[in-house]
Amino acid sequence: MEIKIPLRQHVGGINSPIVKLRDKVYKGQLIAVPNGLGANIHSSVSGEIVDIDDENITIKALPNQPDDYIKIKESNDYLELIKEAGVVGAGGAGFPTNIKLNTKLESGFVVVNAAECEPLLNHNMARIMEDPDLIVRGLKYVMEITGAKKGYIAIKPKNKEPLIELGKAIKDYENIEIKYLPNMYPAGDERVIIRELFGIILKPGQLPLEANVVVTNIETIRNIVLAIEERRPVITKDLTVDGRIKSGEKVFLNIPIGTSIKSLIDNCGGYIEPHGEIILGGPFMGKTGSEDSVVTKTTGGILVALPFPNDSRKFGVLGCECGAQVDRLTSIVENMGGEVVSATNCKRMKDVNGRLRCEEPGVCPGQAEKIMYLKKNGAEAIVVGTCET
Ligand code: SF4
Repeated sequence: MEIKIPLRQHVGGINSPIVKLRDKVYKGQLIAVPNGLGANIHSSVSGEIVDIDDENITIKALPNQPDDYIKIKESNDYLELIKEAGVVGAGGAGFPTNIKLNTKLESGFVVVNAAECEPLLNHNMARIMEDPDLIVRGLKYVMEITGAKKGYIAIKPKNKEPLIELGKAIKDYENIEIKYLPNMYPAGDERVIIRELFGIILKPGQLPLEANVVVTNIETIRNIVLAIEERRPVITKDLTVDGRIKSGEKVFLNIPIGTSIKSLIDNCGGYIEPHGEIILGGPFMGKTGSEDSVVTKTTGGILVALPFPNDSRKFGVLGCECGAQVDRLTSIVENMGGEVVSATNCKRMKDVNGRLRCEEPGVCPGQAEKIMYLKKNGAEAIVVGTCET
């Protein structure tokens, strides 16, 4: 089996390999280092390097993989351990966690984001069920690092069993509480969490730190604990596979980074035919992938869609920051054989430093005015990324 480990799995530039062709590597070995902003990348398997190009290191994995791994170097400094382990935000763009946590929260708070917000994804809830105490320990570590006096776990009440398990796990800690998020998308957006928990409205582009809060995803919390307690680098990923696959929804925990998407679909019994595109991520924010794509530190979902319907009409598209944006909607229309004659965005989206950001995620307005605009421009049908039309 070959494992293809991408040299960019995080915010920042591409990493530089520190191994050579034909080198033998051991599971957990450091194989690529960042140039500036970024994170260490380690081998997820033991084996031999069979290819290195500008984007990936390919490793022929030994048939029998060891249970152990090369540990990151010892340190009493938690941030150093997190950095060495290559921990990045597992639920988002992959921002390096040691940089995010390198702050002092004066009377501030840490929030574990347990929203698992995208529909169909369930691996975060599975992880909580497997070891709720670990999540609480991770929250304690982040509170210690940042100096926060209080910690919260933000979760949707529909996830009853994980909620109960977390409730048991926090019972001896007076400074940790569970808070409910609304059962809606995008409740897991950091600005929505800050609004729901603290009543603070952050402007588009403002970070949680401006509300004196650090928000950390469930899987990132677990990787922090593993780095601190077991000196374990980030070499695996949890994810959910769903859609047009024979097994029905399947949650995978601890999949080696670099595993091919095709092998996971095969593990689910293969496709239900006919099938359409493979989406990497959730249904709202996921991107088009392929069988040749691989699991990275931020892959959360593999969704196999229905084939696109054939529709050659003239379309208008209406983008949303938290759902499908104009480029994704345009690609959907083109895949259907249609033509985009007009494109616009939700009226709450504003330009912030050249990027369109939502003013109030989840407080979604009617879009009658935008629909009229698209129709006036010749749209016979409209594809929307927004929650309301
Ligand atoms: S307000 Fe508009 S841009 Fe923001 S989440 Fe709702 S539909 Fe999307």
